[in-house]
Amino acid sequence: MKVGFVGLGIMGRPMCKNLLKAGYEITAYDPFAAEALEDVVSCGARRGESNADVASKSDVVIIMVPNSPHVKAAIFDTNGISEGAHSGLDLIDMSSIAPLASKEIAETCREYDIHMMDAPVSGGEPKAIDGTLSIMCGGPKALFDKYLSLLNVMGASVVHCGDVNGAGNTVKLANQIIVAVNIAACAEAYSLSTMAGVDPQKVFDAIRGGLAGSTVMDAKVPMMMDRNFTPGFRIDLHIKDLNNALDTGHGLGTPMILTSQVQEMMQWLHNHAEGQSDHSAILKYYEQITGTEIHR
Ligand code: NAD
Repeated sequence: MKVGFVGLGIMGRPMCKNLLKAGYEITAYDPFAAEALEDVVSCGARRGESNADVASKSDVVIIMVPNSPHVKAAIFDTNGISEGAHSGLDLIDMSSIAPLASKEIAETCREYDIHMMDAPVSGGEPKAIDGTLSIMCGGPKALFDKYLSLLNVMGASVVHCGDVNGAGNTVKLANQIIVAVNIAACAEAYSLSTMAGVDPQKVFDAIRGGLAGSTVMDAKVPMMMDRNFTPGFRIDLHIKDLNNALDTGHGLGTPMILTSQVQEMMQWLHNHAEGQSDHSAILKYYEQITGTEIHR
């Protein structure tokens, strides 16, 4: 099976390298990430000259770019995937985008006889490197079955969430809401403890094994205590996801009370030059109110 890989950022680069390690023949391309392209080529990938070139040399193309405008550009712009696509090409879009956009893009792809599945991921850079992502898939079950073994190289959990395109992205929005609110709850709770004079490390040790413990707490609170806000997952990308969640929720008439609160915190951080920081920097929103800093 010949695989194309488009988008070699924080996530795409290690995902592509895991597929190479597993023996897949890959043509890769990213117009804005020369060093990452060099890296995957040195690991055995063929260098694509454009997204169209990648499509022309592949049976299936994986896309891993920031948001729906980038997915549309990668597929439909000049030198895009649709220009190089042969009839029957499959696309796996692993970017996190709005479910409705995913559905519309899949419908337009069908006009080119391109079959698409959405397969956004959760787990961040460390799990992309380990090949232990959670992958949430939407689209025809036959397409899911066809690529399950390929997806298993990148993920520890691969779930078919529904036959409708966008089902995977709906689940991803649920994931992003829970992660954002959980980080904000940690930031609030650890700020309270610090203001009360309790060592944050003691808070962490005492509660992480109980009901309050979470994967989010384990991953993000040590970063807060170390004051290490290197991404990981950028505030700006999380704003994108929460905006997609708010739009989707408003379209469906679902209350998005907690999501909108955390979205405003993140927007404040973006406006204060923290957009490229890890989302654990939500802590800094609380710190500007309390005038304290958390340290180990
Ligand atoms: P990133 O910004 O590091 O990488 C995106 C890459 O896409 C960049 O290298 C960019 O040059 C490339 N790109 C943009 N437009 C392109 C185009 N038209 N053609 C080809 N390449 C193009 O982003 P990331 O952190 O790797 O995230 C990618 C996706 O995965 C996003 O949707 C994000 O929300 C999601 N995600 C990220 C994480 C994380 O922890 N970083 C975790 C889970 C999901």
